[in-house]
Amino acid sequence: MPEGPSIVILREQAEGFAGRTIRHASGNSKEVDYAALGGQSIVALRSWGKHFLIQLQDRALRIHLLMFGSYRINERKDAQPRLSLGFDDGEEFNFYSCSVKTLPPDLDAQYDWSADVMSDQWNARAALKKLRARPDMLVCDATLDQEMFSGAGNIFKNEVLFRIRVHPLSTVGALSAAKQRELVEQMRVYAFDFLRWKKAFVLKQHWLAHTKRICPRCDLPFHKGYLGKTQRRSFFCVKCQKQYPPAG
Ligand SMILES: [Zn+2]
Repeated sequence: MPEGPSIVILREQAEGFAGRTIRHASGNSKEVDYAALGGQSIVALRSWGKHFLIQLQDRALRIHLLMFGSYRINERKDAQPRLSLGFDDGEEFNFYSCSVKTLPPDLDAQYDWSADVMSDQWNARAALKKLRARPDMLVCDATLDQEMFSGAGNIFKNEVLFRIRVHPLSTVGALSAAKQRELVEQMRVYAFDFLRWKKAFVLKQHWLAHTKRICPRCDLPFHKGYLGKTQRRSFFCVKCQKQYPPAG
């Protein structure tokens, strides 16, 4: 699943469409009135976590790439697009296997930008407050919570918990105040490491825990499990990632 930094890359690649007028639109989603899109200009292209947002004059489109979504700029895939936007000079912007939803145009009224780990408006103090309000939550679920860390995904979870040496089954409230702060800080730091590595096509080679078999710190096998309410794959080392409170 594309995580927040991948959506920032999409937004940057699509920048050239901002301010342009949609000449025709088509696709296979029942959620979208395609005929109403033609003639509208793109007011802004924005992102919030895993949402890519196309702000038009009288509405906005929210695109979520889900597990297998993809997009092409001035190219087509051999598949029916969910959303295809055509512009002058034959330019086009196509989305596949994604969810498209129509929203009212005022995105500031609908999105809390300060919750987005990639945003200039990111507010670490607010994230820490939200985290501390959920003492019983497992950290493997907290690191995936889109209200606290919008844009974070499973790679974030595994890499950040490994970095800060915390076992994924720890509860938020059992972490020290300093550890909680470190968690919030490292979510932001990892977001920009992810972005930089992804742009350089070297993201995977920087994974220390995600999908790995051996802990690079201890040279012992990682444990693997589908943990927490989110039931996403966790990779962790029981020697160097401490469980708070201790199991048992
Ligand atoms: Zn280890």
